[in-house]
Amino acid sequence: MPSVNDGVMIVLSSPSGAGKTTLVKMLSKMDNYEISISHTTRQPRPSETNNKDYYFVKEDVFKRLINNQEFLEYAKVFSNFYGTTRTPVIDKLNKGKNILFDIDWQGADQIKNKKLDYKLITFFILPPSREVLFERLSNRDMKDKLIAEERMKQFDRDVLHWINYDYVVINDNLEKCFSKIENLIDAEINNGSKDYDAEYIRSHVNKLIS
Ligand code: ADP
Ligand code: 5GP
Repeated sequence: MPSVNDGVMIVLSSPSGAGKTTLVKMLSKMDNYEISISHTTRQPRPSETNNKDYYFVKEDVFKRLINNQEFLEYAKVFSNFYGTTRTPVIDKLNKGKNILFDIDWQGADQIKNKKLDYKLITFFILPPSREVLFERLSNRDMKDKLIAEERMKQFDRDVLHWINYDYVVINDNLEKCFSKIENLIDAEINNGSKDYDAEYIRSHVNKLIS
């Protein structure tokens, strides 16, 4: 049983470009929330800083961390490795910090299957439409149209994982989406009532994949 003094684990996943990194950063401004910084073998984007957005490492370093069993979870995503080291996360949860994870469905599955003694709330973020998603990806990865196209191809496969999450939230208006997530976290932690329409989400997913 999770102790009331321990922090809560909050996972946000989404098809690439739907806005989870932006939302995780907004959520981290709340009192007592911290982002779990992942290791990755991918190259930094111009806007990213080492040790803040990610620990950017070479593949041999990542493989050493795997061999030393330092990862709580790790996965290969778009031909790069990404992973969450266990110790910093567990230390902070034990100190009562709520930890935000910006990780893909493979990582979310691994954390879920570990059945750790901490409360876990999982969110899957969806874009309002495929067109908006492509626009967001193209704007973000401006230098490399191929990246946006590759990630759009992956969308149809990634979106199918929505079903394994506690909540699915549509990121149309950023502030509204943030506040929806904030309210759901609050309701989960404090056993409050939840404003959540699962049927609406199902029909939105159907529109996205049709
Ligand atoms: P992800 O982490 O899911 O891949 P990002 O958070 O990097 O996605 O968002 C992709 C791009 O879309 C970024 O350039 C971000 O600023 C932008 N973005 C995110 N949410 C919104 C929104 N609600 N409206 C408009 N642009 C958004
Ligand atoms: P990006 O390259 O856009 O930063 O991230 C690509 C994908 O990798 C996103 O779905 C992101 O959530 C995921 N990701 C980032 N860090 C981790 C991690 O530590 N573990 C796993 N499994 N996925 C991660």
